Amino acid sequence: MRVYDILSKKRDSKEINETEMDFLIGNYVQGNIPDYQMSAFLMAAYINGLNKKELISLTESMVNSGEILELSGIPGTKVDKHSTGGVGDKTTLVLAPLMASVGVPFAKMSSRGLGHTGGTLDKLEAIPGFSINLSADEFIDQVKRIGVAVMGASDRIVPADKKLYALRDVTATVSSIPLIASSIVSKKIAGGSDAIVLDVKCGSGAFLKNLDEAKELARMMIKILHDMGKKATAVISNMDQPLGYAVGNALEVEEAIYALKGDAPPDLEELCLELGAQMLLMVGKAQELSEAKEMLESAIISGNALAKLEEFVVAQGGNSGCLESTRILPQAQFVSELKASESGYITQIDAEKLGLVAIELGAGRKKKEDDIDPAAGLVLSKKIGESVEKGDCLVEIYASTNAKLEEIEKMINESFKIGPDKPKAQKMVYETIKK
Ligand code: URA
Repeated sequence: MRVYDILSKKRDSKEINETEMDFLIGNYVQGNIPDYQMSAFLMAAYINGLNKKELISLTESMVNSGEILELSGIPGTKVDKHSTGGVGDKTTLVLAPLMASVGVPFAKMSSRGLGHTGGTLDKLEAIPGFSINLSADEFIDQVKRIGVAVMGASDRIVPADKKLYALRDVTATVSSIPLIASSIVSKKIAGGSDAIVLDVKCGSGAFLKNLDEAKELARMMIKILHDMGKKATAVISNMDQPLGYAVGNALEVEEAIYALKGDAPPDLEELCLELGAQMLLMVGKAQELSEAKEMLESAIISGNALAKLEEFVVAQGGNSGCLESTRILPQAQFVSELKASESGYITQIDAEKLGLVAIELGAGRKKKEDDIDPAAGLVLSKKIGESVEKGDCLVEIYASTNAKLEEIEKMINESFKIGPDKPKAQKMVYETIKK
């Protein structure tokens, strides 16, 4: 078999069969196929798309490039969630203990920030002492013992995605719906859970800005997951502004702790209840969405969800004192306020730009090897639809230096649009897709 022939088939929109896909992915991971040939494949797939058969064989080849976690020793239906990536998205920090507190084993492999979006591992590591480096045995034992564990994926889990993603990042082929679908689904299959809720973000802070594209991605992922024997539901959610108020690792941990104490920003609460309730429906713990949401609300009101967070933090070596006093979390040296330069209503927020501001402050990485400043980030004082008076605080800026403050303030100002008319209320959840 020759790579050249596979590339010319894909270039001419002919179907790549299973054997060819396995050959391509397997040899690429082993270093037998150079990046320039794989780049040509990615671009051809980006332009010509992948049909259903190709998508399944690509996903399977990616899964088979590494190990699959075997979670069958954990009793019950294991659930996982995956967000396609957003700004201020701390839902896993809330949902992991919340699901475990209602008796649903939550076993999740998470990732670091990608592009302008934050990553759960970086957020968890903002808790002093918290370790995301669990072996597969430790991960499974912890889920058996306390019902929840979150770890970083080892290099042995879907190594094909690690190589392909890095290549997509530099060949302008990230935003291909089939390539995103195979990247996400392969990791979910290798993660070993039985039921997966997908949070497909749509809007200015998401990889997909348009609702039709988000729906297409959701349907595609549900189809592959079902074909591969998993239960799956997708929730298309609003990412036209950061989720909640906080953007940045320790700041988001703090917001998640408050959410589990019953004091969540309304959009974060709505999304967590929706995603959590969909998981309860999938595992059969509730029959109706309203019943499922009530179960989750009760777990928060009773303090059970917060108690589970404490167990989770302690189990992974973290200082659970941060639940009592969030001052234990890393604190920024400089905190300043950006004031509104005019009065009116917030009509638009460029969430991607705010994600980039957070990276500029040190909350994310510009290069893979960069260190993160866990204390850095932003806290929004105003969100879309709220009125603002000139001189009101728009955003609090948390930084370890005030060296680039002027540039940062300029970027934040450019991210907000203020107008005379109150905009239409934002919808948090656009649609739930089950097949
Ligand atoms: N998230 C992923 O895991 N993969 C993609 O391709 C895009 C977002």
